Amino acid sequence: MRTPHNHTTTRELRQSRGRGGISGVPRFKPSICRSNSSSQAMKPNPPCSMSPLRRTRRLLPRVLVLMMVLTLGLIWKMSSSNINVEKHVEHDMMIRQLPKSVDGTILKAEDWPTSSKDTHARNKEPRKHRIVIIGSGPTALGAAKRLYDLGQGKDNSVITILEELGRPGGLASSTRDDKGFLWDVGVHVVFSHYTYFDRVLNTAVPEWNYRRRASFAFMKGSDQNRRFIPYPVQNNIHVMDKIDQRRCIRGLEEITKNPINRNPTNFDEWLVQNFGEGLADVFMRKYNRKIWTVDTNEMNSAWVGERVAVPDIEEIKTKIKEVDSGKKAKDSEWGPNLFFRFPKYNGTGGIWESVARLLPNHWFRFHEKVISIDVDRKFVVVETGTDIKMRYALEYDTLISTVPLDSFTFSLKSKDRSLKDMRELASQLVYTHTHIVGVGLTGQQPKSLADKSWVYFPDSDSPFYRVTMFSNYSDDHVPKEGLYWSLMCEIAEPQRSSNPSYWSRENLIKESIEALVLYGFITADMVVSKYYQRFEHGYPVPSLKRDIILNVIQPWLKTKGIYSRGRFGGWRYEVANQDHSFMQGVEAVDKILSDVPELTYPDPNLANSKKNTDRTIPLDYEIVIAHYNEDLDWLKPYADHTLLYHQGKDLGPPFQFYSWERLENLGREAHAYLHHITTYYDRLADVTVFAQADHMSGRCYETPLEYIDSAKKGVPCMKLPERYRDWGRVKFVEGYLEAYEKKGDPIQRATATFRQVYEHLYGHKAPRRGIWYCWNACFGATKQQIRRHPPEFYKKALAYVSRCSNQEEAHYLERLWYHFFEGVDTS
Ligand SMILES: Cc1cc2nc3c(=O)[nH]c(=O)nc-3n(C[C@H](O)[C@H](O)[C@H](O)COP(=O)(O)OP(=O)(O)OC[C@H]3O[C@@H](n4cnc5c(N)ncnc54)[C@H](O)[C@@H]3O)c2cc1C
Repeated sequence: MRTPHNHTTTRELRQSRGRGGISGVPRFKPSICRSNSSSQAMKPNPPCSMSPLRRTRRLLPRVLVLMMVLTLGLIWKMSSSNINVEKHVEHDMMIRQLPKSVDGTILKAEDWPTSSKDTHARNKEPRKHRIVIIGSGPTALGAAKRLYDLGQGKDNSVITILEELGRPGGLASSTRDDKGFLWDVGVHVVFSHYTYFDRVLNTAVPEWNYRRRASFAFMKGSDQNRRFIPYPVQNNIHVMDKIDQRRCIRGLEEITKNPINRNPTNFDEWLVQNFGEGLADVFMRKYNRKIWTVDTNEMNSAWVGERVAVPDIEEIKTKIKEVDSGKKAKDSEWGPNLFFRFPKYNGTGGIWESVARLLPNHWFRFHEKVISIDVDRKFVVVETGTDIKMRYALEYDTLISTVPLDSFTFSLKSKDRSLKDMRELASQLVYTHTHIVGVGLTGQQPKSLADKSWVYFPDSDSPFYRVTMFSNYSDDHVPKEGLYWSLMCEIAEPQRSSNPSYWSRENLIKESIEALVLYGFITADMVVSKYYQRFEHGYPVPSLKRDIILNVIQPWLKTKGIYSRGRFGGWRYEVANQDHSFMQGVEAVDKILSDVPELTYPDPNLANSKKNTDRTIPLDYEIVIAHYNEDLDWLKPYADHTLLYHQGKDLGPPFQFYSWERLENLGREAHAYLHHITTYYDRLADVTVFAQADHMSGRCYETPLEYIDSAKKGVPCMKLPERYRDWGRVKFVEGYLEAYEKKGDPIQRATATFRQVYEHLYGHKAPRRGIWYCWNACFGATKQQIRRHPPEFYKKALAYVSRCSNQEEAHYLERLWYHFFEGVDTS
């Protein structure tokens, strides 16, 4: 059945009528399009035994009351919800009237009204690009933030974010239990491969705790003793008992002697090739089985990338010798998340609620679940409402979905015959269910846990594979700091599990607490709160067939104008963390709007191999600061424009800057400045101010803003420049070198003269008359001034100051900055 297409200017959610019978139960139940689950099937009402007239008379007042309640409810929803009706006339153009159906069920996709394209063609008005995003987790918020930063959602496009739950964050959300303990969905470490992601988080979340990772495995050795082994286990074989040590070393020697060069056909082969049989048996197979719920030979090895540390056998043997001779061996510092930060307040969920607050409120529609998508005629069917559910349809030009790919594929409607194959493939994707058991505790936290971030548990005598010492992340995670502490257990259930009673809430809470007691971490009387939640989709398993499946479904979806991205939308575990997910959203938008190729989803290994600095949106001015350990208070008024390069030992900044980045302590301030120029050459601010963190009071401008004025006038520094024509080594003023010697940080003399460095950089002879220069390495420069030289020029200069912390070449650079930028017409 087709109903004519109807454009409405107010939001109309028309309920579809049921059969009109009553069930004979005392309370009247309207047969509106109601459902409590995602299922579309409606239950028919039981037959009625009353006469039709009596029934109508009895029903009439109730129907009237119900209609009033519904109308009032609708008015209330529109006035009180995030959706501002007036602002949304444009959205309403897209909302289709719900078609009537005889039996009260939602109509099949084929029966929805025809497209609005014809009407738009008649009106000859340019239609706005309609972008619908399903979900409001990190991926969806990445897409939305990018759209916002690129000025979308105004005259150019209409953005709608549909979220079935009542808040943003998805799997990266947090919940406070009724005792006041806060819980995440398992450990959520913010580690980033992307500058854009960092800057959005810096802008959104003002206060962070900075932590150094302290993660361990807790496992029983062959000597039957349980012990903590620092992460990654393969780099800490020296901590194991002697039997396990020997097994691991034997395996490593075997693979060193007879390396296997063929490509591994599964993850198990990869493990043996890289770690040997010993390590595979002692830890790898057991732990991976527990977290992934499948055997390692059922997984591919393509996902591994940077995530697994490959051990150095010589280093391991040295460590064992050190331990045997009574020395304390140094722990491995491997890994991408050696340092991490965590929000001071409201947990991981607080991050994403804050990011959502950076976006227009009216883009979001909470409690609105997409239940089907007509890919031929490009509309989604949305189920809305928390108690009484109704359905409407929403057209799109571009759809970004973050819904798990398996269920998403099953919600598609199309005449395209290949949809059946897509469903068949999607049904073969493998995933785990995640259970979170939060244990709120009182009393003293044992010393063995006080210094830990999280611990892995490979043994089968506990249900969890990982426990996070969550109260160590922030005082906000417990009702009262000092009095309480908390442990958050993560448990993985296989996709198809037998024994439902084992996976029940009651049993998992019981088993988790028993294991924590067994391990000596807690006593049962310490427990004051037991939190539990189950997540249908927890880990996207990199199964053997995964890539074959994705390589068919994803291009097929793309031909339909659909981008399915994110942890489960993309189903690639290697790029399924928050930073990856967020950036998949960002990159999808860049592809959709400007045809800029995506990176993260198509090329996970490349994305993970470096810090990705493109896609940043520069500010009007930026203040680049080289910092070691100086006081930073003077920068507070400019923090939202400051990019701080930290070359000292701090875990994080004292307050939030637009950007805070840890740099190796090399080449004094020159290294930081050149790192910035070479990294952001194509994305420089209109004016960049470069300064050292000690403020150089009296020798530099008082405020960074003065540099901006000065740079715009073509003068990059405060004092009028002087001539410099000493082309040899730097003649330091008396006592300068000695002062550094005394500090224990002597200046390393240069291997080349100033003339040689100059001529190498410029490719021509140093001018005999000398160059203009100004002191103190504090200056401002417009992007035109900086781009007077190509990036290669600055890369050459950077190479000179990448040798050690305090080197003479940095002083050459101090004499060159003005010369680099002088004489540029900035008009
Ligand atoms: C146990 C665990 C530990 C983790 N640890 C870390 C970590 O240490 N570090 C890290 O960075 N990341 C971690 N992550 C990953 C992080 O949670 C994800 O990267 C992120 O949440 C993925 O975001 P997403 O938007 O792709 O998906 P999701 O967060 O799953 O969001 C999808 C959203 O879509 C909504 N939705 C689904 N179906 C529909 C529908 N039909 N209609 C409307 N809305 C719908 C959902 O309600 C949800 O809000 C972890 C995840 C888990 C489960």
